[in-house]
Amino acid sequence: MIFIRQKRGIIAILVALILSSLYVFRGYIFLENMPKAGIALSFDDRYIKEWYQLRPLFKKYNAHVTFYLTQPDSLSTEEWNMLRILAQDGHEIGCHGAIHTQSIPFVWRNSIQEYLDIEIHQALKTMQSHGYIPHTFAHPGGSQFWWLDQKLYQYFDLLRDVSLKKRKLGNWVFERNINEINEIYFRPNQSKSVSALMIDIGNELSEKEIIEVLVKARNTQSAVMLFGHKPLFQSAKTGQEYGFEVEFLTYILSESAKLGLKTYTMAELSQFNKP
Ligand SMILES: [Zn+2]
Repeated sequence: MIFIRQKRGIIAILVALILSSLYVFRGYIFLENMPKAGIALSFDDRYIKEWYQLRPLFKKYNAHVTFYLTQPDSLSTEEWNMLRILAQDGHEIGCHGAIHTQSIPFVWRNSIQEYLDIEIHQALKTMQSHGYIPHTFAHPGGSQFWWLDQKLYQYFDLLRDVSLKKRKLGNWVFERNINEINEIYFRPNQSKSVSALMIDIGNELSEKEIIEVLVKARNTQSAVMLFGHKPLFQSAKTGQEYGFEVEFLTYILSESAKLGLKTYTMAELSQFNKP
């Protein structure tokens, strides 16, 4: 009888120990926050020569970023060589489609299968023929819908959409306060469809707003996702150019470093999601 009681006691202690260790290590088993707060920068389209010129800046801040390549069949040998060097530096080469079409109107006029064949399979084929197997995808024009995303998960671990502070619809301009934009902070195991805030001059972000998002990433132990298109090495004259000022990117990188933020590629972020 005493022996049975002792046995039960030992089992109870063992169960308590297992439960308490599960509680202690729950953060590792079910990651909720990033192990280190950070920033994930991505760049869209095919401004390869301009992206290549950013190498010294990325090296200075030990930053690894993602380049989302579109229309890969149009690249010259020189551009493929530059991309290879960028990849060797530790940057990710992601997929941004073969024809850069907006998925919603395209699928409306055609079909999902045609979209996959023309936009996705074709891009993957060209990239693979040059030695790249992209793991993440950026929706051209930020055009995405739930059902298509379910199909795209067959090919990619993470899908990146566009987040804007200012959105124009005809004559209407919708503007959100920077502290209301919450979808740009990546946390593990939340979603495979994510959004990045555009840093192009058209989105009119101020340095103060950038500081706000960087501090929020640090305080919430998440990774803030930002993206742009063409690096503009000279100060832009108008808000119409489809790009961001390199000076602004430099500011983002230097302030991130001051806050101790780690840079992540989009594929690195995807590794924090459950398989
Ligand atoms: Zn694009």
